[in-house]
Amino acid sequence: MNGSRVLVLNSGSSSVKYQLLDMADGSRPASGIVERIGEGPVADHAAALKQVADELAAKDLGLDSPELAAVGHRVVHGGTRFTEPTLITDEVVEEIEKLIPLAPLHNPANVTGIKVARSLRPDLPQVAVFDTAFHSTIPEAAARYAIDVATADRWGVRRYGFHGTSHAYVSRATAELLGKEPAELNTIVLHLGNGASASAVRGGVCVETSMGLTPLEGLVMGTRSGDIDPAAIFHLSRVGGMSTDEIDTLLNKRSGLAGLCGDNDMREIGRRMGEGDRAAQLAFDIYIHRLRKYVGAYTAVLGRVDAIAFTAGVGENSAAVREAAMRGLTAFGIEVDGVRNALRSATARLISTETSRVAVAVVPTDEELEIASQTFDLVSA
Ligand code: ADP
Repeated sequence: MNGSRVLVLNSGSSSVKYQLLDMADGSRPASGIVERIGEGPVADHAAALKQVADELAAKDLGLDSPELAAVGHRVVHGGTRFTEPTLITDEVVEEIEKLIPLAPLHNPANVTGIKVARSLRPDLPQVAVFDTAFHSTIPEAAARYAIDVATADRWGVRRYGFHGTSHAYVSRATAELLGKEPAELNTIVLHLGNGASASAVRGGVCVETSMGLTPLEGLVMGTRSGDIDPAAIFHLSRVGGMSTDEIDTLLNKRSGLAGLCGDNDMREIGRRMGEGDRAAQLAFDIYIHRLRKYVGAYTAVLGRVDAIAFTAGVGENSAAVREAAMRGLTAFGIEVDGVRNALRSATARLISTETSRVAVAVVPTDEELEIASQTFDLVSA
């Protein structure tokens, strides 16, 4: 291997995000997003990837550049098969395709991105980095649902967890911020973006996370319900006459903050709350209530909590969410400093008081850097 650059591709259902990272000097020579795939001039993922290649070539950073060491692909679902970053071969592509039923909204686009990128540069090492991988260490007691074991195993019904790249990066970055080794620290990571998930990390190893078979379980999210009694689904089907697809859409796209108050952006919700809007206030309260339940539960799971890290769009930017989530938890050893919490900054920082037993931090996530590092480590090993 010669080059020091990694192209990170995140192929979503309707967009492709890309970033070119130079692992030698930490620079990011290019990044961008191709959106609205299938709606306009960008007919499909092949056209989107072609556009990415053209945009890079226009900057003299094309896929044929000798500087390029590898491509790192974000893949949402690795099932139980993939627990590590994996060098992509034909067989690996087939295995990722077999996982499509577990992630019908995400894996197809990931696979297409991989295929197109491989066709453009067949000789270049390409690596799949799985959103589920960091959670593969979760013990059976936490990963299994309490349902008939044979049925669960036959259909792969268990908790996999997602956002793993972010939880891995943020738990390590939190240790770094505190001047500790990850092995010394028990951390609760709260990844609060449009999708949201919590994880409990013991000594650098993930032991519990809030998302499950799919990203629907757990916290209240922008448009997803998070936890709900599964019997609500039977009820909506039998009594409400809704189809499986309709309920799927309801819980994934018309629920969460958006379902509760019509807005899924925490900025807008904050603005409406300021005007005394009751629906926005209730949406916020439900969001916070669920978050606090998870903080409490993960405190019990870990036994000793050293750090709580807030990350992603809401976690990094909403002082109001952080304040409400951590309020009145002095008995847990959690004390947030109002002034520190209100400060805005793009770097990792502590927001707890000097006397707080638990360090509370805001730690910006960097999934691209994590994917690039894992990719580069694998191809340069
Ligand atoms: P994604 O899950 O799409 O990657 P992000 O992590 O980028 O999402 O988070 C997006 C969300 O972050 C927005 O929907 C919004 O609710 C929230 N957000 C972004 N900026 C702010 C801000 N300044 N204050 C409060 N919330 C914000």
